[in-house]
Amino acid sequence: MPDLPVVTTEEGQHVAFDEYTWKRRELDKRLPIEQPWPSDADIDTAYAKLGPRSAPPFLTAPSRILPDVYLVNTEPNLSYVIDAGEAGLVLVDPGMTNTVESERANIARLGLGNRRVRWVLNTHAHFDHAMADEEFRKTGAEVMIGAGDADAIEKGTAVTALYLIMPNQPYPYTKVGDRLADGEILHLGNKTIYVIATPGHTPGSSCFLLQVGGRNVLFGGDTALYDNRLGNQSTSFTDNREYLASLRKLAGFHLDPRLPFQWDVLLPGHGAIVMDHAYMDVEKDFRTTQIDLLEGYPIEALPFATPLYRKMMAGRP
Ligand SMILES: [Zn+2]
Repeated sequence: MPDLPVVTTEEGQHVAFDEYTWKRRELDKRLPIEQPWPSDADIDTAYAKLGPRSAPPFLTAPSRILPDVYLVNTEPNLSYVIDAGEAGLVLVDPGMTNTVESERANIARLGLGNRRVRWVLNTHAHFDHAMADEEFRKTGAEVMIGAGDADAIEKGTAVTALYLIMPNQPYPYTKVGDRLADGEILHLGNKTIYVIATPGHTPGSSCFLLQVGGRNVLFGGDTALYDNRLGNQSTSFTDNREYLASLRKLAGFHLDPRLPFQWDVLLPGHGAIVMDHAYMDVEKDFRTTQIDLLEGYPIEALPFATPLYRKMMAGRP
């Protein structure tokens, strides 16, 4: 399987872009600041006129990200598999039920078909991340999610945002095997995963740290994303103050305060994947949220049309 198609950004990061992020980001560099931001329907036309002549290959699944870490789904969220050895696979955020088949096929294409999905690890309870949990639990996986979000997928609450997808159908509720607590250390097969509670986007949102080849990998969910992209704070049960505190916590995170620590790789719930200097994105997310709250702006999940982002990006090479 190909490794991720990575490009070097103007900030020196190595980033694997999705088409959505790439087009808007390139437009941000080139669209004169006094011109209005195009509607979603007009993005492709504007990009064709102003965008660069060539674009890199975009994220595809399956891909190998790092040793033992793979991308197995890109829509509507990014789903990751961690190979924990003979004990089985960890599936991070399985996504929606209609992607289960392709995820299983992708796992086989990666040569991991002889391993079973033993653990499902959720960054939070939103349907676009957790709706397929039950499919994998039925075939033997243990479902793990931050304690504050466990009821949402067990009993169904508005936190799952089920009303967004199928108002007349029941959410495929599941049984949670482990309600994760802040600071919990998960020993899953030959891997160790650290749980960092990061409430705000949902009450039980969690980020995860995995160390691979000396690199600190952050599974950011909808809490930490690339280049000022943020969680959607307009859905039920969001808390902006908690969100800011969680981003501050991530930015200052230390596994052991006596040792130097920085985030290297960012594997978010949506958008582009960051292969190095991921602490920059955590800092940006924190700063942008802080400015929004201090100035009384709404928190925008997508930065591309905001005046702050447009000013920052305008005229960049
Ligand atoms: Zn979400």
